[in-house]
Amino acid sequence: MAPDCLFCKIAAGDIPADKLYEDDEMLAFRDIAPQAPVHFLVIPKKHIQDPAGVTSEDEGLMGRMMRRAAAIAKENNIKDFRLVFNNGAEAGQAVFHIHMHVLGGRAMQWPPG
Ligand code: AMP
Repeated sequence: MAPDCLFCKIAAGDIPADKLYEDDEMLAFRDIAPQAPVHFLVIPKKHIQDPAGVTSEDEGLMGRMMRRAAAIAKENNIKDFRLVFNNGAEAGQAVFHIHMHVLGGRAMQWPPG
């Protein structure tokens, strides 16, 4: 756990979240400011700052997070969805604990803003 990390605190249960899934290595919870009818985040419990901080040790975990995102989307009757990882402030990252956004329930635009 990294000090002063919001998502480490959510993973530890110190800050409440609207949880959709939890196991030993990951957590999924609804985004507090949803940008689509369904918008949740999947995070590893382990503190990784951003996608650039993913190591070979984390590769399996990243794949399991993606599979879990798809399973939760299906449970929420979402067939088509967008997965987003922001890396760095210029890309829109505000919380520096890696997280996968899962957005669905509306038509998406491309290119993203
Ligand atoms: P990013 O801009 O990629 O770092 O995304 C951070 C996301 O975390 C944003 O979509 C926020 O709305 C979301 N967020 C921030 N604080 C919380 C919280 N306490 N619970 C749930 N989502 C949060």
